[in-house]
Amino acid sequence: MTEITCIGLGLMGSALARAMLAAGHRVTVWNRTPGKAAALTAMGAAEAPSFSDAVSASPILMICIDNYASTRALLEPQGRAGLLAGRTLISMTTGTPREAEALCAWVQAQGGRYLDGAILPGPNEIGTSSGDILVSGDQAVWQIAKPFLSCLAGRVRLVGDRVGGAAALDFAWLTMSMIQFVGVAHAANICRSQDIDLQAFMDIWPFDPAPVDPETHTPELARRIKEADYHHPTATLQVWGEALAHIQAQARDSGINSAVPDFIAGFFQKAVAMGLGQQEAIAIYKTLLATEQEGQAERRDGNMAPTG
Ligand code: NAP
Repeated sequence: MTEITCIGLGLMGSALARAMLAAGHRVTVWNRTPGKAAALTAMGAAEAPSFSDAVSASPILMICIDNYASTRALLEPQGRAGLLAGRTLISMTTGTPREAEALCAWVQAQGGRYLDGAILPGPNEIGTSSGDILVSGDQAVWQIAKPFLSCLAGRVRLVGDRVGGAAALDFAWLTMSMIQFVGVAHAANICRSQDIDLQAFMDIWPFDPAPVDPETHTPELARRIKEADYHHPTATLQVWGEALAHIQAQARDSGINSAVPDFIAGFFQKAVAMGLGQQEAIAIYKTLLATEQEGQAERRDGNMAPTG
């Protein structure tokens, strides 16, 4: 037996497992596609041969995969659900408050305990003394999970016993980052149209040695556009786009105005359709250039159309 099992070894799931191993915890890991565990087993992790073995290996499970539908598809098949009895599931996957509440109710119905987590920093900050992780759920479950969560970020805190609370705050935070992406993309386009070097825009921001989130810090986003540095994402444009779809769903679920996320989603959907899903989120800048080129082509075609 190990103390905790990490399910999902993508960019974020690997970072979580790495931080817990570095903190001295005994960890089992599992990923749908094999071959992603080598760096973690080199640090002492045990790799489970199957999902059921992964669940059986520890009393606490931490899952960080693409969405809640995939989480439920993993957990719900006949014969697997019973594995959760007496175990604690911590979901670090991005999802809506409603999805968190539904998963919590389902896990409890299987005799398990549930805690919902929302990760604000990128993978590079996991295991450092900075960054926020928000958690919501039962106080007693928080006490069980705390020794594992507290090594993951500088500030890890229970935000309340309403299980959807962490997801709601995460969406509020993510919305601000998304607005930043769209704003910097347009700012860069203004500079381009006026032949102004983007460095001049970056220089407006005072040097900040420890920005709240380095990944979404305005001058850093502008630098990526200036240097066409889109190819080393710590969260892919596709992952941001999926989070945005959840933010739209939350607006629908709760009946609030969805105009802001709907507007931003247009840029992300176009970027994914352009094949930019595996790049940095700020690659949405390229959608602005593409739209301009499409507009120019349409006008050219219009001018060439026969008249009369
Ligand atoms: P990622 O690098 O794209 O990895 C996705 C992970 O999900 C992989 O382990 C993948 O397994 C797994 N997965 C996808 N579909 C699955 C399925 N049907 N069944 C089982 N596993 C499946 O994404 P990530 O950046 O690690 O993000 C994971 C979660 O963390 C997301 O909810 C994201 O919103 C959240 N998050 C990420 C960041 C970040 O900066 N990266 C920050 C905060 C929160 P395979 O290898 O088999 O494809």
